[in-house]
Amino acid sequence: MILFGIDIGGTTVKIGAFKEDRTLIEKWEIPTKSNSVLEDISQAIHTFLQKESISIEEIYGFGIGIPGIVKDGIAVSCVNLGWQNRNIKQEFEKALGFQKPIIVLNDANMAAYGEAAFCDLKLASAIFITLGTGVGGGIIVHNQILEGTMGLAGELGHILIDSTYNFQCSCGAIGCLETLASTKGMRNLVQFYQKKYSTRLILNESLTTKDIIDAAKEGDPLAHQVFEEAMNALARALASLSVIINPDAFIIGGGISNAKDFLLNTITKKYKEVCIKQAQDIPIYLAKLKNDAGIFGACAYLIQKKFEVERNGKC
Ligand SMILES: [Zn+2]
Repeated sequence: MILFGIDIGGTTVKIGAFKEDRTLIEKWEIPTKSNSVLEDISQAIHTFLQKESISIEEIYGFGIGIPGIVKDGIAVSCVNLGWQNRNIKQEFEKALGFQKPIIVLNDANMAAYGEAAFCDLKLASAIFITLGTGVGGGIIVHNQILEGTMGLAGELGHILIDSTYNFQCSCGAIGCLETLASTKGMRNLVQFYQKKYSTRLILNESLTTKDIIDAAKEGDPLAHQVFEEAMNALARALASLSVIINPDAFIIGGGISNAKDFLLNTITKKYKEVCIKQAQDIPIYLAKLKNDAGIFGACAYLIQKKFEVERNGKC
């Protein structure tokens, strides 16, 4: 059987075709056109089937990740694509012209599933947190994606963590994790501390997280303080999550994870300092699938659902 993982991003759609043993046959990208994206994906799938001489009977199903809030296959809100309360499962079925199992997920949740399922330890429960322009994430419990009543579970950037700086978050709240432990957050901190610590950093539009982390590695006083505070916030968030979910592991992804050992060593040390004693051994890993995590996650989740259908006779 063939499974398709589809990750709809703001500018491109990533498509992966997999075998049932989770090996990738081929992956490719098409541009995202918000008014015809589902038809374009369908066209790309049909072209692939023809090229590889694969019949529709050989397809098990599709996993689709979208950049927005998803609940039970409905895109509740997807600002980038201008979608609101759209039944993506139904619309994609119509575009395809045939019926197969279709799973629609939030893209970060799908990536979380990929990182957990393809981790060397095959984690059944994991918390994935992405540190980029903002902070996102996903929560896997007993091989299931936790979506929550309104599809908000895993929106880890909006854990309220801070009452010192009171920076406003993109969600409207004050003191979210994202206001400290993201590119935006680290810029907030640069601005806050720039008069107090000496630095070679210049706060402007082009200042990146990499600039800040590189400077912190070299001992720049301001960059060091900013990185420490961002990691303190992340450590507290992980410590709180450790007693809510008690996962097998934490996985950190996103642009900041390019700092590799520097990030991993700092966050592991800080986490152990603030978590309860019994949670100290929960390991922290860096994401390894990166941009492909979504399509791999879709594949793994489809296989999990197929297994459940075969075991229970229902989805
Ligand atoms: Zn927020």
